Amino acid sequence: LANRQMHPNDTVVKIGGNVEVGGKKIVVMAGPCSVESEPQICEIAEEVQRQGAAILRGGAWKPRSSPYSFQGMKAQGLDLLCIAKEKTGMPIVTEITNPAHIELFEGRVDCYQVGARNMQNFELLKELGKTNTPILLKRGFANTLEEFLMSAEYIMAGGNDQVILCERGIRTYETYTRNTLDISAVPALKRLSHLPVVVDPSHAAGIYWMVEPLAMSAVAAGADGLIIEVHNDPAHALSDGAQSLTYKHFARTMDKVRAVAAAV
Ligand code: PEP
Ligand code: MN
Repeated sequence: LANRQMHPNDTVVKIGGNVEVGGKKIVVMAGPCSVESEPQICEIAEEVQRQGAAILRGGAWKPRSSPYSFQGMKAQGLDLLCIAKEKTGMPIVTEITNPAHIELFEGRVDCYQVGARNMQNFELLKELGKTNTPILLKRGFANTLEEFLMSAEYIMAGGNDQVILCERGIRTYETYTRNTLDISAVPALKRLSHLPVVVDPSHAAGIYWMVEPLAMSAVAAGADGLIIEVHNDPAHALSDGAQSLTYKHFARTMDKVRAVAAAV
């Protein structure tokens, strides 16, 4: 179902009714790694929207490597995302880690994010396949493209064909960056599949100043969109501050991304 050979035309995934991912325009999803408070998520939403982001991202349930790290605001975080959505009109994308949460998310979240750590959580994928809500499926940091596409297939086999593929960096021997952005995944996925491809330069780099050049290269390579972490105060972020952009830096990154998009 995900295979380009069976479906030559590009799939366009509609999020929140009017944002098209996989169409002509580059779609930017932006926001904090974690929802931290109502003023925080609302201020960031307004700011990224002003700079041209079409979709608001923000984690409520955070799958952290350490059990002692901030685990997210959970249901309260979801409520705050909905408030930000109401204020700005921006559709929201947030991570789901447990199939038991679908009931709580359905009808409120415009796009489910499946995180890298859950790319092969097949029970979660199968349950999401029963919904009609778009899914942003992130590539596991140690998974091949074949495995990645098979995970998309799990969702689609259940009847949900609204899947967006997200390359977010893979684990290699290089330690300078948090992960290594597999830029070749973009043309490879576009060739193998008709699904839209989005790149997450924030988790790939792990370093804020590298997000802009990686975002530009993703668009140059043919990505349909980007998901970028932006924070009101990166130094005090409860998660992923080191890779989060300030408003000013995000504005500059958007200018550069638009320039690349116009050139390709
Ligand atoms: C995130 O988007 O904040 C996140 C946890 O991403 P990933 O699953 O790619 O690590
Ligand atoms: Mn993050």
